[in-house]
Amino acid sequence: MDFSQRVNQVPDSITLKLNAKAVKLSEEGRHIYNLTAGQLPFKPHQNFIEKMHAELNFLKSFQYTPAAGIKELRDKFINYFKETRKVDLDDSYDCIISNGGKHSIFNALGTIINPGDEVILLAPYWISYPEMVKLWGGTPVVVKSQVYDGYTPSIQHIKKAITKKTKAVIINSPNNPSGVHYPDRWMKDFAEMIVKFPNVFILSDEIYFELSYYDPKPTYFYQHDSSLLERTLVFDGISKSFASTGLRIGYCIAKKELVSLYSKLQAQTSSGANSLVQRGLLSYSFDDVKGFVDPINQKLRKNSDILRSKFEEYKTTNSWYQTSSAFYYLVDLTQMPVYKKYLDQFGQGDHAAKICEDILENIGIAIVPGTDFGIPNSARISFVLEEVPFTEALNRLMKFFSTTE
Ligand code: PLP
Repeated sequence: MDFSQRVNQVPDSITLKLNAKAVKLSEEGRHIYNLTAGQLPFKPHQNFIEKMHAELNFLKSFQYTPAAGIKELRDKFINYFKETRKVDLDDSYDCIISNGGKHSIFNALGTIINPGDEVILLAPYWISYPEMVKLWGGTPVVVKSQVYDGYTPSIQHIKKAITKKTKAVIINSPNNPSGVHYPDRWMKDFAEMIVKFPNVFILSDEIYFELSYYDPKPTYFYQHDSSLLERTLVFDGISKSFASTGLRIGYCIAKKELVSLYSKLQAQTSSGANSLVQRGLLSYSFDDVKGFVDPINQKLRKNSDILRSKFEEYKTTNSWYQTSSAFYYLVDLTQMPVYKKYLDQFGQGDHAAKICEDILENIGIAIVPGTDFGIPNSARISFVLEEVPFTEALNRLMKFFSTTE
């Protein structure tokens, strides 16, 4: 049979392969510490659960919503955005709700990309961006940062990567997988640079906005130059800040003209998002979000401190950078003593997958190779686990990283 080449060329994910292996080992009775999680291990706010429960009594909760989502909820997301980011939007802006942030970003890329367009990605980037860009016929152009820059890419390098074909830049701050948000100074410099390229869209993936545990809090380029909002697409959703990855609600805020085109695409492909959850969100007070995330942020801060203390204990602080948001840390494997073993055995190259596989098999810890995030020889540690198992896992992991024999 002849299948789609476009889909066939999507590479197999190393992460999925390792996850499958971790599941298999668990089923065989091995205790596996899972440090791969991309979600919080908590239920959402009780008030939100109750609101959804109450909506079960209405016929409307089981029927189609408009393709772009319930109008009042779209307005509520816009107001929440205006309040939390402290910006003003006139009524030339709109919001469209989709089945999660991933769906929002995919549809938005479909709304702006023409074949051959280039989209600049800042590595480390979220795994799905390059494949989404390619599926729409675009070309990803990667600008890299390193552990020494605290994984904050240089504005000069981004500027250099812009060509006549550049359609958009994707910024993800707070960032998955680095667990940092770009400094305010960076946002200001970015605004000053990008304002000179009026044909470039800016996609701002702010899905981890509420999860930040060290001051200063995340800020954005459009807070320095509000004229940039005219070509900015902001993405957020309930997966992370409402601990609701399975409920699949994400949204995009952008100029009305763009949202209306996006809406056409969505109407013919998936229709409106889950009506029950949208209705629950409509009656839930977003003022509760802060109270919900505060203790979570404290916990993440604690785990970030534990991680740092382990780097100190094992004398590997030369590769440490301070995390501040989301719930990840990206280890630069080349800075770990164990890396030399792989270098001696296999020579130069990206050994992240092999190292993560050995970690899983030998010490029962699952972490994600950084290759799919655009940083070879790195690995992502998720720190949402409870303090005790997290510390146990780190002790084993740091011991592994420190082996030279
Ligand atoms: N953006 C980033 C950076 C993410 O890490 C994720 C999920 O892990 C998403 C977007 C999409 O989240 P969802 O589709 O669950 O809303």
